[in-house]
Amino acid sequence: MGIDAAGLKANGMHAANRRRVSILGATGTIGDYTCELIAANPEDFDVVAVTANRNAAKLAACAISLGAKFAAIGDKFLEGELRAHLSGTGIECAGGAEALIEAGSRPADWIMAAIVGFAGLAPTLAALRQGTTVALANKECLVSAGPYFMAEATRHGATVIPVDSEHSAVFQALDDLECRHVEKIVLTASGGPFRTWTQSQIDAARPEDALKHPNWSMGQKITIDSATLMNKGLEIIEAFHLFNVRPDQLSAIIHPQSIIHALVYYSDASVLAQASLPDMRTPIAYSLAWPKRLEASFNRLDLASIGQLTFEEPDERRFPALALTRAALEEGGNAPTVLNAANEVAVQAFLEGKISFPGIAALVEQTLDGSRGSLARTALDSHEAVVQVDREARAIAGEILVRNSRSGIPSIRASVASL
Ligand code: NAD
Ligand code: MG
Repeated sequence: MGIDAAGLKANGMHAANRRRVSILGATGTIGDYTCELIAANPEDFDVVAVTANRNAAKLAACAISLGAKFAAIGDKFLEGELRAHLSGTGIECAGGAEALIEAGSRPADWIMAAIVGFAGLAPTLAALRQGTTVALANKECLVSAGPYFMAEATRHGATVIPVDSEHSAVFQALDDLECRHVEKIVLTASGGPFRTWTQSQIDAARPEDALKHPNWSMGQKITIDSATLMNKGLEIIEAFHLFNVRPDQLSAIIHPQSIIHALVYYSDASVLAQASLPDMRTPIAYSLAWPKRLEASFNRLDLASIGQLTFEEPDERRFPALALTRAALEEGGNAPTVLNAANEVAVQAFLEGKISFPGIAALVEQTLDGSRGSLARTALDSHEAVVQVDREARAIAGEILVRNSRSGIPSIRASVASL
């Protein structure tokens, strides 16, 4: 577990002046920023592949503007539309799950993994198996398949550079990747839009309320995860797999200004923290240039104008998702895979108005409970095994949703609120 020091060699980084890059999830928030950075330095990069799920027009525009060689669309039915948009450009294209894997497999020196959710696992594994540098934004890969994912990275000599802002911060603040003198790692969380809301306000929170993140502009799934604090829990699991520490060395602290992204406490009482404005272009730029640094024109941090940086303990009663993720990490085996799958189902159900906001954590908890009978908590040592557990967990979560709607309960109350 952890980033293997040997795996951090500058793999292909200096092979040529121009680097071949691919962007998995090129039409999303992280994808947009990545395309922007690459387009700003056209002399440095050759774009190999770009992918999207459904937005064929945006994918085509992105492929054309970056001069990509290959564009892959996840929804097979949209391949024709993509082909029409790309007609006459000479850019190859394909559709469906295999096309996304092909995008990850085409030789590149640096690959951004920014597909959201479990759907990103297979293409990201394909990227890892090239033994190249993978800039990892997709945290669900590590939550669902952490031990297998990191073992594959080591086996194929891939370099994983974290892009999640907190993990990029830890990576930048670590002076020893084996973490020999690290006492603890603290990830910061903005607290999301409901940080100051009462329980009864949270009970009535609507999707449009949860989608208003105070500091970050992000895709829908991670924005809801930030509102429940599930995102911070997923990030603790992510950090556990990336860095060589025990679960009890990892924690989260609320920091509403989102300026400090993580803190690493050392055995000599020194603490290294990384600070920057809440702008994902900074960690993306870091992953793109590592081990060097990019010249960027982003706004600079001005502490005097911010005035105060504040910190508070997370409230696990109003935000039970944090405790759930910690319990799943400690339970081990496939529990985090089940948690991730249930959370994806729950977030979708909340966005569709099928469950309440506290119902998200409740559905995750009930799925974890319900899965204990049918899914022994064994370790998952293959992609197929992870896919199987993910599928079964989604089915269990789906059954619980149906059962709750049949029993006339309009929304699931958070049974975990009393934790
Ligand atoms: P987003 O929803 O804006 O974009 C998601 C991308 O994935 C899009 O290109 C979309 O077409 C593609 N996609 C969605 N479903 C797919 C499917 N089934 N098959 C293939 N492609 C699919 O998401 P985002 O905010 O850019 O986040 C991407 C990932 O990065 C997530 O895992 C998120 O947790 C992580 N992340 C995001 C941020 C952020 O600030 N946005 C910060 C840290 C980590
Ligand atoms: Mg983050």
